[in-house]
Formats: sequence, C-alpha cells, structure tokens
Amino acid sequence: MKRPIIISGPCSAETEEQTVITCTKLAETQKVDILRAGIWKPRTSPESFEGVGELGLIWLKNAKRITGLPVAVEVANAEHAHKALLHDVDYVWIGARTTVNPFNVKEIAGVLKGTKAKVLIKNPINPDLSLWVGAIERIAHTRGIENIWLVHRGFSAYGYSEYRNVPLWHLVFDIRCQFPEIKIICDPSHICGNRKNLHKVSQIAADLNYDGLMIESHIYPDAAWSDASQQITPDELNVLLSSLKWRNANNSSSIFSYSLNNIRSEIDQIDSDLFELLSRRMKLAEEIGRIKLTGNVSIYQEQRWNNVVERIIARAKRLNISETFIHAILDAIHSESISRQNEIMNRT
Ligand code: PEP
Ligand code: MN
Repeated sequence: MKRPIIISGPCSAETEEQTVITCTKLAETQKVDILRAGIWKPRTSPESFEGVGELGLIWLKNAKRITGLPVAVEVANAEHAHKALLHDVDYVWIGARTTVNPFNVKEIAGVLKGTKAKVLIKNPINPDLSLWVGAIERIAHTRGIENIWLVHRGFSAYGYSEYRNVPLWHLVFDIRCQFPEIKIICDPSHICGNRKNLHKVSQIAADLNYDGLMIESHIYPDAAWSDASQQITPDELNVLLSSLKWRNANNSSSIFSYSLNNIRSEIDQIDSDLFELLSRRMKLAEEIGRIKLTGNVSIYQEQRWNNVVERIIARAKRLNISETFIHAILDAIHSESISRQNEIMNRT
C-alpha cells in the first residue's frame, strides 16, 4: 500500500444517494484509497442519529462496485462484525468507544478469527494506553487476521481545548514505539471537531511520519446527520490533500547523514552532560534532606523555591527558552528533589 493511505467518506451513511455520490466524488479525486462510512453510530445522546444499520452495507457495496475502491465500516459488537463480513466489507474499524471495552473487542475478534479481515483499531476515548494495547493484543493474537492498523483520533479531555479530542501526540508516539511494524493513520476530523484546523493537524501527522489519514467527507457537510461541523466536501478534501507536504521517513544522501549525525553526536554529548549535572544536583538535594532532618524543618520551603524559579526565569529571554519550558523542567526537578529528601527524612 502506498503512503499516505487516504481513507475518506461520510461520518454516517444517511441515504443511498448521499453515500454513493459522496463516494463517487471521492474516487474522482484519485487521492482516496479506501472509502469509509459509519452505519452503526455510537452516539452519546439517544436523541442523536444512530445510523441506518444493515441497509447501509448494501449502499456501500454499490459504492464499491461503482468506484472499484475498498470500503470500511465501524463494528462495535459480534453481530456488526458478522454482517460486515457477509456484505464484503474490506476493512472494519473498532471505534474509540469500543476499544475501551475488552468484552466487545473479544467478541469481535471471535467473529473475525480465520477470516483474513483487515482491522483498524482507534485509540480509546480516554488517554489510557493500556486499553489500546489490550485491544491491539486481543486482535493481534486472533489467528488469521490479515492486517492491523491503528487510528489516532485524539482523546477526550476535561475543560476547554481548541480540539474536540486532544491529540496528545507524545502518547501515540509511545504506542508507535511499542508496535513499530503496525501502520498508524491519523483521524484529524475527530481530533479537530471543526474544519478550520483540519489542515494544520493533517500536516503535523505528515511531519510525524504517519502512514495516512482518515478524513470525513460529505457532499453537503452542513446538512450532515452526524458530525456536521467537521466534515468537508470531496472537492475541499482534494484541495487539502494537494497542499499537504509528506516528508520522507529517511534520506540516504551522504551529505544529509553527515550533517545530521554531526549534530546528533553533539546532542548526545549535551544529554550526557545534562544528566551528569542532574545526578550531582540530586546528590546535593539528599544532603539538604539530611540537614533538614537534623534541624527538624519541612522539606518544602516556599520562599526558597520561588527564588530558584525566579532566578532562572530572569534568564529566559537571553537563553531563548520559553517560560513554559523552564517551568516544566523545574517542576520535574523539584518533584524528584522532594521525593529524594522524603526518602532521607522519612526512612524507617
Ligand atoms: C467515526 O469515525 O465516525 C467515529 C465514530 O469515530 P470515533 O470512534 O473515533 O469517535
Ligand atoms: Mn464522525
């Protein structure tokens, strides 16, 4: 499969006309590899549109026949998985609300066993990576599944965010390190929840070497029965995809490797120095702990800590380092230092 892999289609199949026309227009862009549509929709409110059900599988089969493109649907239980296979669905995806539920993942795996199914596993709605890992392992251990890809659709977070689901790219990076052989697709539609940030998030995914994108598209986005605010027309998708810059995973030119390796060796040296210094700093913190124990004073000394922070913040501009970054580093150092002193002062 080429990179980037582009998966697109409506959030939900609503009518045969909407499904088939959207898919046909997407195929005409010649940039889409796989068509998607939700036909069983896991919705938060029972008042929301919950999908057309099995009927949508027949519309998708039509779209597949007309466009020659493979199709993907979401399955949330054994019955969905069974019906999807029955209607020649090429890819099934496990949605964010199903990945969190080991029982559902297990029953879906039971139906897919030995079927050569291609399965996409979305990240769970909450940022608990062990749930994602559990779902990946349950599917990966199922005999006869042809391939597994991951879909990063962001995580729900409490409080205000410019995203509908915060991306937390670093968490996904951990999963990619654990499963380096599994392809990872970014779903900017559900991360953004709007159209305006779609390009920005897609470009980040391209820069982070993702294998592809899943973007929702609808012939009349404003009139969509679900996720109206994040869907774009096939023409808009075409423009978005044309403007993205995909980077190479690597570059074999010798001048490139030479310049990169030069700087990397300098960075390695600086990292070693930084950690030598941090180790010395922690030893000093332990000595302070011993002195505080003798003097019977508390570990946390507010005035002193404010001074430490102020002193470094005063250099932020000259060092060309943001105050946010300084706070993040100092907070980590302070919390380690407190725990070292705690060990000394409360040793039983
Ligand atoms: C979807 O892709 O339409 C969907 C419901 O996604 P998620 O499971 O990521 O919310
Ligand atoms: Mn959706």
